[in-house]
Amino acid sequence: MRLGKIANKFAFALGFHYLCSMQFKDIVGQHLLKESLARMADSGRVGHALLFTGREGVGALPLAVAFAQYINCAQSVGGDSCGVCASCVQMNQLAHPDVHFVFPVNKSKSAEAVSGADGDKPVSDHFIAKWREQILQVVPKGYFNEQMWYRTLDIDNKQGNISRYEADRILRKLSFKAFESKYKIVIVWLPERMNPQAANALLKILEEPWENTFFLLVSHAPERLLPTILSRTQTIDVPAIDPGALSAWLRATQGLPAEKADALARVSFGNLLEALRLLSEEEQDDEQFDLFVQLMRLSYEDKHLALLEWAESVASMNRESQKAFLENTLRLLRDAYMMSMGMDEVAYLYGKELAFCRKFAPFVNNRNIEALTRQTQQTVDDVARNGNPKIVFTHYALTVSKLINRLR
Ligand SMILES: [Zn+2]
Repeated sequence: MRLGKIANKFAFALGFHYLCSMQFKDIVGQHLLKESLARMADSGRVGHALLFTGREGVGALPLAVAFAQYINCAQSVGGDSCGVCASCVQMNQLAHPDVHFVFPVNKSKSAEAVSGADGDKPVSDHFIAKWREQILQVVPKGYFNEQMWYRTLDIDNKQGNISRYEADRILRKLSFKAFESKYKIVIVWLPERMNPQAANALLKILEEPWENTFFLLVSHAPERLLPTILSRTQTIDVPAIDPGALSAWLRATQGLPAEKADALARVSFGNLLEALRLLSEEEQDDEQFDLFVQLMRLSYEDKHLALLEWAESVASMNRESQKAFLENTLRLLRDAYMMSMGMDEVAYLYGKELAFCRKFAPFVNNRNIEALTRQTQQTVDDVARNGNPKIVFTHYALTVSKLINRLR
């Protein structure tokens, strides 16, 4: 199931970066878009600045990288880059001398050693090794979000940004002739993380005609970009991944049965990262879900002794698990309530959670949802305050039982 990931890590550890290609064929779904990008490049009518826009998890960044590879490939065939020419081999390692990356960064704990002409101002080049690793090590390649990147950067809870020093660097790089390829390409990931000075500096660069140079901007929040930048770029809208294509990918790489893969593709709204998150959450949530089902069944059946036993077993778990159980319970209560109100489309459930909550929904409604939520939240606080777990969970179980039974 996780074989792809392991093989990939293994290859990376051994330095077999060339095993990682990022061609159109490696992008999940998006067939129409891939075709139209290839056609655009073939016709030689690529605008000098393209803005790829799309939500996280739909593949906007890997598409931009695959497009860059396609543009510079010496022998593209059948609407995709060849993967083996000199340019493609360099792209496979994200080490192409004519393809430059700009992305949000910040001072990280592990970056003390970094210093360059810009002193201690963090710029993308300082973190290029981590960037390559981030793109190539995830499965599938290039699918990650901003939070995952900041975790890799090791910048704690700080946010990354793109400073105006990046603009100076871009200018310096563009002042050289292309090393080996016909085109120089600058890929800017999350231009919305530019501060106003940086945005204005980039705008000046975009205003100038640069010979044989393409700017590929990749944004999750184009509405936060300067209107002047929007007006100088051609927008490439990257839609949600087609559910059929996402389901096929989930089946092939995660070993899921068709029915489950279809359900995941649907509830994740064509967002690959969300589908993977739901999948891993489901694996972890088994214990918490079982405890939830037990509590609700015993409550409904009003089995006091069994409820006390239930409380005792939860009290014996560590505090982190207790908190995770309660938070999972809050989520399930909310979704069951939505279903009982007939708002199935805002309940993000599938699989066995969906099956149980369908049956359970009639027992959560306006008469008890507030009290159930408040009581669960209160228990989270009690656990955090180090209350005696046996007392805390006995009280919780009996209160929940009363609230559920109120509806009988
Ligand atoms: Zn090639």
